[in-house]
Amino acid sequence: MAETDVLVVGSGPAGLSAALASAREGVDTLLVERYGCFGGNITQAMVGTIAWYRAQKTVDAGGLGVEFETRALELGASLEDHEGQGQLLDADMFKVVADRLVQDAGIVPLLHCFGVHTILQGSTIKGIITESKSGRQAILAKRVIDATGDADLAFHAGAPNAKQPRGEMMGCTTSFGSSGVDVAEFLAYIAANPSRLGDWAQRTSGKEDQIFSTWIAEPFNKAREAGEMPADATVLGYWGGLTEAGEATNINVAHTLGIDPTDVWDLTRAEMDGRQKAMWAVAALKKYTPGFQNCRLRSLNSSVGTRESRRIIGDYTLTESDVKGQARFADSIGIFPEFLDAYGEVIMPTTGRYFQVPYGILLPQRVENLLVAGRCVAADRGAFSATRQMMCCSVTGQGAGVAAAVAVKDGVSCRRVKMPKVQRALEAQGVRIA
Ligand SMILES: Cc1cc2nc3c(=O)[nH]c(=O)nc-3n(C[C@H](O)[C@H](O)[C@H](O)COP(=O)(O)OP(=O)(O)OC[C@H]3O[C@@H](n4cnc5c(N)ncnc54)[C@H](O)[C@@H]3O)c2cc1C
Repeated sequence: MAETDVLVVGSGPAGLSAALASAREGVDTLLVERYGCFGGNITQAMVGTIAWYRAQKTVDAGGLGVEFETRALELGASLEDHEGQGQLLDADMFKVVADRLVQDAGIVPLLHCFGVHTILQGSTIKGIITESKSGRQAILAKRVIDATGDADLAFHAGAPNAKQPRGEMMGCTTSFGSSGVDVAEFLAYIAANPSRLGDWAQRTSGKEDQIFSTWIAEPFNKAREAGEMPADATVLGYWGGLTEAGEATNINVAHTLGIDPTDVWDLTRAEMDGRQKAMWAVAALKKYTPGFQNCRLRSLNSSVGTRESRRIIGDYTLTESDVKGQARFADSIGIFPEFLDAYGEVIMPTTGRYFQVPYGILLPQRVENLLVAGRCVAADRGAFSATRQMMCCSVTGQGAGVAAAVAVKDGVSCRRVKMPKVQRALEAQGVRIA
C-alpha cells in the first residue's frame, strides 16, 4: 500500500520520537499505529508522568521527550505533576499534541493499522505486512524501526529476544479518571497525611525515603478490611493529576499480575479484571477518601497499560551496573539520569549522576536495517528499570530515527552507519550526547 524511506511501527514515546527525528532529518517517514491515536501509553493508558523523577540536580536527557512537555504546556495539554518538576501530560489532549507534531514534521500518518509480520530478503528487512479494515497489505521501506513496545517485528523477523516468565513480569494497570472531586479538600487531606517514597519502595539508596509521593493505599486497605473487595485484590497506587474542574485524571491503582502482554488471552483477562478492580477502587475512594465523596468514574484507559514483555538481544545489552555506574560509550546516542523504578526498587536522580545510552542496544542480532526503540531495547532486568522510562524511550526513539535517516542518506546499513555523523545530527536536534 505504501513505500517509504523510514517506516516506524508503534507511536509511543519511542515511536513518536523516532518518526519525528527521522522526518526532521529530511527523509520520507511513515508512522504506523494499531490504535486510533498516537502516543502509546501516554494517550492509551493515561501515563502522563513523563518526568516525575526530575529534581534540582537532575541532569536530564533533553531532545524530544522534553519537547513533548513544552509543546503540551503551550497547548494547555498538561497539568501540575505533584511529585517532580516535570509536566504531567493529559492523556486526551496529548492526542492532539501528537497529531500536531506529526503534521508539522511532514510525517505520513497511518492509524488503525497493525504490523503483523516482516518482509525479509535474506537477513535484510524490506518492509512489513499489515492488517486493518483495508485488509492485509504491505508497506515497503528502506529502514524499519520497531517501536511496538513488545518487539513484535524483531520477533517476527526471527531476531533473538527474551521475556521473563509471566509471574516475574511487571503488572498491567487499568488507569481511570474521576469527576466530582473536591480538589481543595483532597489536597488538604494529603497535606495532613503525606506519603513518602519509602512507604512503597522496597529498595532505595536511602536518600529517596523521605521524598513526597502521590502514593495512596489507606482507602483500599479499609475497603479490603471491610470485605468490600477481595483481600487479595491488587488495588493501591498513585493518585496522579488534579484539575480545577474537579477531576482526578489518571488514577493508577488497579493492577493485574501474571500477565504476558504478548498473549491475547492474558490481555483479555487484564482488561476485564482491571475494570472490575477500577470499580472497587472508585467505591473505596468514594467511601474512605476526603474530597472524593461525590466522585464518579469519568474515563477508563482505552487499552490496559502494559509495562514489560519481550526485549531484544542486541549487539550490546545494557546492564544494571552501566546504569548505576555512570557508563560511557563511544556510540552514545544520548544520556539518561540515574533513575531506576521497577520491581520495588527506586533510585532517584537527585545527584546529577547519569549514564550514556549506547546505539548497540537498538540493533537486533541477525537482522539488517531493523532498529528497535523503547522499552524493548536490549537491557538486563536491572537496566530495564531505567530503559522502560518514557523519557529514556524517547532517547532511544530519537537515536533510532536519526540513525535510520542517516543510513538512508548515506546508503549504508543501520549497523554500518557512521556514529560521529549520527551524534552530530542528534546534537543539532538538541540531544545531549555526552
Ligand atoms: C500504568 C503505567 C504507569 C507507568 N508509569 C510511568 C511513569 O510514571 N513514568 C514513566 O516514564 N514510565 C511509566 N510507565 C512505563 C512507560 O509507560 C512505558 O515503558 C513506555 O510508554 C514505553 O514506551 P514505548 O514507546 O516503548 O511503548 P508504548 O508506550 O507501549 O507504545 C507502543 C505503541 O506501539 C503500538 N503498537 C504495538 N504493537 C503494534 C503493532 N504490532 N503494530 C502497530 N502498532 C503497534 C501501540 O498501540 C502503542 O501506541 C508506566 C506504565 C504503565 C502501564
